[in-house]
Amino acid sequence: MIREFDNAQADHTSQPLIATDRAGQQLEQPSIEAIWTLLDAVPDPEVPVVSVVDLGIVRDLQWDGRQLVVTLTPTYSGCPATEFIEEAITEALHAAGIANVRLHQQLAPAWTTDWITESGREKLRQYGIAPPVGSASKRSLLGEEPEVACPQCGSHDTVQVSEFGSTACKALYRCNSCLEPFDYFKCI
Ligand SMILES: [Zn+2]
Repeated sequence: MIREFDNAQADHTSQPLIATDRAGQQLEQPSIEAIWTLLDAVPDPEVPVVSVVDLGIVRDLQWDGRQLVVTLTPTYSGCPATEFIEEAITEALHAAGIANVRLHQQLAPAWTTDWITESGREKLRQYGIAPPVGSASKRSLLGEEPEVACPQCGSHDTVQVSEFGSTACKALYRCNSCLEPFDYFKCI
């Protein structure tokens, strides 16, 4: 599997969110909202142009006393990115001064591309990856081929070249209008 670490998105600089005294004790807890914003700067290791929040991997954030509980739903099962995502999230929280973190993996309901946010879809498009089309549940019901728009020129005259693109989570497409190949983020 090829990882794309060549993106400028990866330069998330995190400021400590909370004040600590000399013993490193937390003086106050950052708001859940501030932590969502912080995690929205953590890039997905496979598609660094989108954050783990954009992808819908981070399901819930909650303070349990002094411990932050982060609920995650991994994307494609068998995608080795999951442990990288967990590490990246833990590192970002530690860098922000949140040391007491518990990661909770929630496997049901299973992650679906429907959870990718609108801003995540727009970022994919700008990066040259066609975002998943429509609703995953509907697709599997109808068994239809998606009508994928070319992220370069917007044409719907596109054809699937290979079921696997630069990573297993993507398919390789080609545009018949501008002739450019592009990755399509597979709908699941
Ligand atoms: Zn095109």
